[in-house]
Amino acid sequence: MLEKLKLEVYEANMALSRSGLVFGTFGNVSGIDRESGLVVIKPSGIEYSALRPEDMVVTDLNGNVVEGKYRPSSDTKTHVKIYSDMPSVGGICHTHSMYATSFAQSGRGISAYGTTHADYFDGEIPCTRRLTPKEIAGEYEYNTGAVIVETFKDRDPDSMRAVLVNSHGPFTWGKNAGESVQNSVYLEFVAQMALNTELLRSACATCVPMQNKLLRRHFDRKHGKNKYYGQG
Ligand code: 13P
Repeated sequence: MLEKLKLEVYEANMALSRSGLVFGTFGNVSGIDRESGLVVIKPSGIEYSALRPEDMVVTDLNGNVVEGKYRPSSDTKTHVKIYSDMPSVGGICHTHSMYATSFAQSGRGISAYGTTHADYFDGEIPCTRRLTPKEIAGEYEYNTGAVIVETFKDRDPDSMRAVLVNSHGPFTWGKNAGESVQNSVYLEFVAQMALNTELLRSACATCVPMQNKLLRRHFDRKHGKNKYYGQG
C-alpha cells in the first residue's frame, strides 16, 4: 500500500539523516496521500541506518496505524493535526537541530535580519506559546499540533513553512516530504545566522576599532616605505 509514498518518505528521512540536523533517532519526516487521506511516517526510535522503505508506517488522519509492523513516530499526532488543518501541506519534517531548537528553547521567534532569511521565509519565523500543564498531561502530541495550528490562525502556511514549538523544536513543511526536509535545512541556516547577528550586534556596544595611529604604525613598519620589520 502506498509504496511510492513510502519510498519518498524513506528517502526524505535518509536525506534528513545525511543533513546533519539530527543525531541518534531524533527527528521524523512524513508525507500524505491527499486522495486517500493516509499518512506515511517514520517508525519511532529506530536508527536511521537500519531503516528500509518497507519499515515506513501508514496511519489515518487520527494517527491510527493502517499498515506497518512498527509503532509510528511518537510525534505522529502532531503531524496528522497539521495535515488536518493545513490542507496545502504535503510533507512534514521535525528535527531537534541545534540553532532552531536554541531559539525554540528560548521561546523566541527568528527575526528576519537579512535577504538569506527573506529568500525562504516571509517574516519572523514564529514560536508557539508554551503548552499548559493540562495540555502536556493530556493528548500531548495532538496538543503540540494544535498549538502550531493556533499559531498559524492569522498566518499563511504557504509563505511561512516553519514553526518553532516552544521549549521543544522546529517543524517545517512543504509540498512533499523532500521539500519539508529542505526547509528544515534552510531554517537551521537562517537560525545560525540570526544568532550570530544578535551576538555581533550586542557585542558592538563595547567593540571599538583600534586607534588609527596604532594601525598605521603596525601596517607601515611591515609594509610601508620605511619598513623596518624583519632582517631587511
Ligand atoms: P521518533 O523516533 O518517535 O520519531 O521521535 C523522534 C523525535 O524527535 C521526538 O521528538
